[in-house]
Amino acid sequence: MAKIAVVGSSSMDLVVTSEKRPGAGETVLGDRFETVPGGKGANQAVAAARLGAEVHMIGCVGDDHYGEIILNNFTENRVLVNNVKPVTDEKSGTAHIILAEGDNSIVVVKGANDHITPSYVEEAAHVLKEADIVLIQQEIPEETVEYVSQYCHDHHIPLLLNPAPARKLNQKVIDQATYITPNEHEADVLFNGVSPAEALRQYPNKVFITEGKSGVRYFNGEKEVLVPSYEVEAVDTTGAGDTFNAAFAVALAEKKSFEESLRFANRAASLSVTKFGAQGGMPMRGDVEGSL
Ligand code: ATP
Repeated sequence: MAKIAVVGSSSMDLVVTSEKRPGAGETVLGDRFETVPGGKGANQAVAAARLGAEVHMIGCVGDDHYGEIILNNFTENRVLVNNVKPVTDEKSGTAHIILAEGDNSIVVVKGANDHITPSYVEEAAHVLKEADIVLIQQEIPEETVEYVSQYCHDHHIPLLLNPAPARKLNQKVIDQATYITPNEHEADVLFNGVSPAEALRQYPNKVFITEGKSGVRYFNGEKEVLVPSYEVEAVDTTGAGDTFNAAFAVALAEKKSFEESLRFANRAASLSVTKFGAQGGMPMRGDVEGSL
C-alpha cells in the first residue's frame, strides 16, 4: 500500500450559485447555497485515500464547528488525522465561492492554515520520513514549503510540489522538489519569461504541466510527450488538479512508470469533473482501474 504524507490546507467551501455576479455595492438573489469540505491539501489527501493509499495529513483546523466537519470528513475518507490539530481561538480556513455567469470568484480566508509553520511540521516530521512520497501545495506559508522541500531533500524522500495557487518560488525549492505539477498559468508565474516548452526541456521527467481537458505534458529526456486526458461530460472542474496530483502521487509511490502514472492521473481527474464539488466526484480505485 502506498504511504503518502500531505502537508497542506483544509477549509470549508461556502458555495453560492447565482445567475448574476453582484458588482460593488450591489445585492442579488442567489439560487443555491452549499457548504462542502475543500482546501487543496485536504482535497489531495481525500483523493489519494479513495485511490487506496495510506494517507497521513499534516494540517490545522480552527476550534470551530467547521473544524469538526473537516475532521469528520477526513475520517470518513480514511485519512489519518493524528497531525491535524485544532488551533485555539482560531477559525478554520474558508473559501467563499460565487459561481455565476459561467465562472467562479473566490475569496479565501486562510484562518488556521496559517498555523502550519515549519516548527508545527517539524513535530510531525516522522510522518514525512516514513512516506513513500510527500505532497505539498501553496495554500500554506511559504517558509513551510521551503522547510518541507529542504527536509525531503535532506532525507531523500520524493516530494511532489503542486505549485497552486500560483506564486513565485525560490530556485532552491524548484531544484529540491522531485516533481512539480503546475497548470499553464502557474507554469507562467513559476518560470516567468521562459516558454513552457523550454521549461519542460530544462526539467526532464520533473515538471509536468497540466492542460485541462487536453491532458498533461512533460519532457522525457528525448522528446516532449503529451499524455491526453479522457473525454467526459464535465459538470464541475473544481478539484480536477487536486485529483490529478493525488493520483499521480499514488501511482508514483507504486513505482508505475511516468506514462502509466500520468494515464492513471488523467483518468482519475477526468472522472472527478463529472460531479459537483471538489471532492464530490473524486473516484475510488476501482472506478479508475475499471475504466482505464
Ligand atoms: P483546478 O484548479 O480546476 O483543480 P487545474 O487548473 O489545477 O485544475 P487542469 O490543468 O485544469 O488543472 O486539470 C488537471 C487535470 O485534470 C488535467 O491534466 C486532466 O487530466 C484533468 N481534466 C481537467 N479538466 C478536464 C476535462 N474537462 N475533461 C477531462 N479531463 C480534465
